[in-house]
Amino acid sequence: SVLVEDLHKSFGTGDGLIKAVDGISLDIPAGHSVALVGASGSGKSTLLHLIGAIERADAGRVVVDGQDVTALGRRAAASYRRTVGFVFQRFHLLPGLSALDNVLAPVLPRKAGFDRDARARELLAAVGLQGRESALPSQLSGGQQQRVAVARALIARPRLLLADEPTGSLDSATGEQLMDLVGELAAEYGCTLVVATHDMGVAERCTDVLRVRDGRLGEVAGSGGSRSRRAR
Ligand code: ATP
Ligand code: MG
Repeated sequence: SVLVEDLHKSFGTGDGLIKAVDGISLDIPAGHSVALVGASGSGKSTLLHLIGAIERADAGRVVVDGQDVTALGRRAAASYRRTVGFVFQRFHLLPGLSALDNVLAPVLPRKAGFDRDARARELLAAVGLQGRESALPSQLSGGQQQRVAVARALIARPRLLLADEPTGSLDSATGEQLMDLVGELAAEYGCTLVVATHDMGVAERCTDVLRVRDGRLGEVAGSGGSRSRRAR
């Protein structure tokens, strides 16, 4: 589960002060998926970065599965980040590595080599890339590269998957297919999913849709239908 309490993050000073996240609270039950929608610059990525402890909050708390992740020191933050899967708009695959080695990259050095190798192959199969394990990123389509990035995000069995415009570089049909897959895998692994997106087709696949506006939160009227559990 993800609990966010009165979270604040500003950039700049004086006249240039930007309140990127300006008092956001929300409560995401374990296994739920939440879409963050809102205009460019509204604070979606910043919120994801705070939840993932990529950036430090100025005030407020983020509690993930009972652990306050806003109060962590450097080392503890780094080890927390290893329990989070990240997917970005640009796939950030390492160009010189095969699909398989890209999936394994977060868990290198490859200690228990065989197990991890088997799991990486299983994940690549789960995202529909069986047989393409040795392909380089340049030999894969955008949608296939993003599926490698999804497999990579899941290799460490994260409790939380954070996706920032994961379909932003894909056409809408490919993007929606990708999100169906992400939703299935997140459910299978009991993973909570938070996704920032401009694509309402993507947002509609989540249990809740939250609108971010000037660093604050509001719910999208009628979102999520009867499946919706209100995030606070
Ligand atoms: P988009 O949809 O374009 O990705 P977003 O909702 O993800 O936008 P953020 O990236 O969270 O928006 O940015 C929120 C505000 O904070 C913006 O005004 C942005 O310029 C500012 N901002 C974000 N990161 C920084 C930074 N490192 N330094 C200064 N300002 C920043
Ligand atoms: Mg963003």
